[in-house]
Amino acid sequence: MRTWPLSSLAVLGLLSLSPVVYADGCALSIDANDAMQYSVKHLEVPASCTDVTLTLHHIGKLPVKAMGHNWVLTRKADAAAVASAGAAAGAAKEYLPSGDARVIAATKLIGGGESASVTFSTAALKASEDYSYFCSFPGHASMMKGTLTLAK
Ligand code: ZN
Repeated sequence: MRTWPLSSLAVLGLLSLSPVVYADGCALSIDANDAMQYSVKHLEVPASCTDVTLTLHHIGKLPVKAMGHNWVLTRKADAAAVASAGAAAGAAKEYLPSGDARVIAATKLIGGGESASVTFSTAALKASEDYSYFCSFPGHASMMKGTLTLAK
């Protein structure tokens, strides 16, 4: 079914046969805790996904001001600079520089017990490149980071 023309997929989508459009592998999930840890260090996106939905679950108890977490995706080469820019942006901007083209996807900042999702297109991702995800809360990116790749 992966080779069906887009128009067929669109029609199936209208008929609510959504499992065809949203394959299970296109929904990714990651946990974050009060010890500044993500549950996974590597996420792989199946090549068949055109859109990916990442859901971040904060399984801790601490409030967002003390132990806020988000999930920010950039090219690996941009990660450190975006983390710095995020810290400089401050709490009011949820520690992310606004309108920064280096940010491919980002969830909102959440506290313990909360969840947040972001959906992004894989059109901007290259199989030849490594991508980094991290939490942009000040001081967290050194521990809360991982790599995202497109399956080859
Ligand atoms: Zn964090």
